[in-house]
Amino acid sequence: VCAISPKAIVSDACASYSTLDTLNRELRPALTDLTRNTDYFAYYRLNLHNECPFWSDANAMCGNIACAVNTLDEADIPKTWRSEELGRLEGPKAEHPGRQLQKARGPERPLQGELGDDVGESCVVEYDDECDDRDYCVPEDEGANGRGDYVSLVDNPERFTGYAGESAKQVWDTIYRENCFSKSSFPKSASYGESLLAPTGQAADELRSVLQEQGRLQALEERQKTTPNTPFVTETGLEHEDECLEKRVFYRVISGMHASISTHLCWEYLNQTTGEWGPNLDCYKERLHGHPERVSNLYFNYALVLRAVTKLGPYLQDYTFCSGDPAEDRVTKAKVQALTSIAADKPAIFDESLMFVNGEGPSLKEDFRNRFRNVSRVMDCVGCDKCRLWGKVQTAGYGAALKVLFEFDNNSKDIPVLKRTELVALFNTLTRISNSLNAIQEFRIMVEAEETES
Ligand code: FAD
Repeated sequence: VCAISPKAIVSDACASYSTLDTLNRELRPALTDLTRNTDYFAYYRLNLHNECPFWSDANAMCGNIACAVNTLDEADIPKTWRSEELGRLEGPKAEHPGRQLQKARGPERPLQGELGDDVGESCVVEYDDECDDRDYCVPEDEGANGRGDYVSLVDNPERFTGYAGESAKQVWDTIYRENCFSKSSFPKSASYGESLLAPTGQAADELRSVLQEQGRLQALEERQKTTPNTPFVTETGLEHEDECLEKRVFYRVISGMHASISTHLCWEYLNQTTGEWGPNLDCYKERLHGHPERVSNLYFNYALVLRAVTKLGPYLQDYTFCSGDPAEDRVTKAKVQALTSIAADKPAIFDESLMFVNGEGPSLKEDFRNRFRNVSRVMDCVGCDKCRLWGKVQTAGYGAALKVLFEFDNNSKDIPVLKRTELVALFNTLTRISNSLNAIQEFRIMVEAEETES
């Protein structure tokens, strides 16, 4: 294995699909165990009822039962996280402390979310719904003043919900279009999914063949002839040869997340005739198999998020995973360490040091961060609670990964500051991608079997 450059197309990089699949086979049991069997990583608090900040979503709600999220009563969550307990710990006059103030409290009044601080066993959940300068996401507030519900991520699995149509399209379009650095370069009619695709080598050739199949390649080539100064195939992103690295990485993260969501819904699909849940091969073929660049972006995300988790690993040794039960907290910590040490023993699989360093790179960081925050805000426009839940968890997870990778120098003593919600989102997002890799492998086997039969 060698490190994946953010430039690489995963399938043809030194770290191939099969290398990552092998690593994933080793990691997946530990990830599943951590996210399914510990309270700390199974519960997430979020506000599912924020208004969409970009358009009126009054009529966009998904009415399917599969879109519903079961929220938890306070009595079902660990005592330390209940609002009465939070109120008691902080006192009735507690105000939202600025981050500086929090830091100034010192170790005798530690905050659980201050990763790396000497947090002891006190289990005080931090109050912080403000964006830190280094956040790539709008944070979910877990403090006593925070509105929102606790949900069990285990009991609300990400799978087919039937959410589709205009509302879903509008959200995806907004994510790709409004949050794309080069939005002016692609027209509304474009298939946004194909924009900004990794432009060279195998992916470009594969894309051409897809366009050929769709009957679009010739028209695009004709247009190129009549207007030779325009970049080739604006809609597809082939012109992004010169696109800087950071912009392409931004696109790949989004596209990889989209691919993972598609994989989950195809893998746990509801057969509406029989009422049974199971893999839907046609769904996979349509959304993923015929789009190798999407699968490539999924693997890319696996490398990126796993690298963030591995980088965080040493700091987590001093972290208290508070659920109110010290014995369980020790078990959680042991599970986290077992997991992070598997990847730590392997050579690094993603090289983040190439980003934000050359050319316009350094000046792009803030833009990159703000755009990613916008993507997390768009999640409030998702008209299906279950999709909104997982959309929020995953954008928070990628946000946390980007923060760990790009806001904390590998050689500095600066300790990554993460809230509980960010940590939970990070590990659950890695588990999502890990499950997607597994499902894709299974789907590939099914496609091969089908081809052999015919
Ligand atoms: P969509 O998936 O809606 O894609 C729209 C367009 O984007 C495509 O036509 C294509 O051009 C492009 N595109 C597709 N995939 C990619 C990619 N990987 N990279 C780049 N471009 C791409 N549905 C569920 O059943 N369960 C869920 O949990 C769920 N979660 C969702 C979460 C969010 C945040 C959103 C916005 C939607 C969610 N949906 C979910 C809906 C689902 O993603 C689809 O929108 C829906 O199934 C309709 O699919 P579609 O075939 O129209 O294409």
